[in-house]
Amino acid sequence: MKFKKEELHSIVNSVKRHIEMEALGGAEDLLFPADEKNRSAISLESLEKEVISCLRCDLHRTRTKAVFGAGNPGAKLMFVGEAPGRDEDLRGAPFVGRAGQLLTKIIESIGLRRKDVYIANVLKCRPPNNRNPFPAEILACENYLLKQIELIKPRVICALGKFAAQSLLATNEPISRLRGRFHDYRGTKLVPTYHPAYLLRNPGDKRLVWEDMKKIRKYLKER
Ligand code: SF4
Repeated sequence: MKFKKEELHSIVNSVKRHIEMEALGGAEDLLFPADEKNRSAISLESLEKEVISCLRCDLHRTRTKAVFGAGNPGAKLMFVGEAPGRDEDLRGAPFVGRAGQLLTKIIESIGLRRKDVYIANVLKCRPPNNRNPFPAEILACENYLLKQIELIKPRVICALGKFAAQSLLATNEPISRLRGRFHDYRGTKLVPTYHPAYLLRNPGDKRLVWEDMKKIRKYLKER
């Protein structure tokens, strides 16, 4: 696998930080800094505090605010996007720009309100200029999302867009082939669909998202 110079720089920095943490706190802190032995006692609130002060990858240098996630902590439906954009970075909340307004309409299209669901991203800090996340950043951040899902226990995860779907399902399959069907994500149903930002540029594909949402609605109603 070939890496660009900036990706290599990011990986080297992550490894350096891991080594420093090991020297300070023991090997388990490499996996999860909050205290791996007491993970079951971690709440969403304490996890959010960790994210807000997280220094685990270089994105902490350029973020305005980390974006932990928002919504109902007991939600049956959880949406997972890629990473905060400019509006989200400024406000510290997920999906608050134009794409977020469209996501609200998508949620309402199946009879739910935004406060009924939980919304998060794979990355908690904005990549500069909305560039694609680097592998080292995903690696550094992924435990936060895993823990969120573990705490919320949604019945369905809706992965918004190629990046979230491919990251969660560990695949390179295009979103056009992933969407429209249920996948298994660690025992939870996962339905990929198009990202609202993509729909703003390609409104003709809104009907495909509507089809995906109807499947989710049916599944949730039956259980
Ligand atoms: S992107 Fe994730 S790992 Fe990187 S600094 Fe932000 S919260 Fe920490």
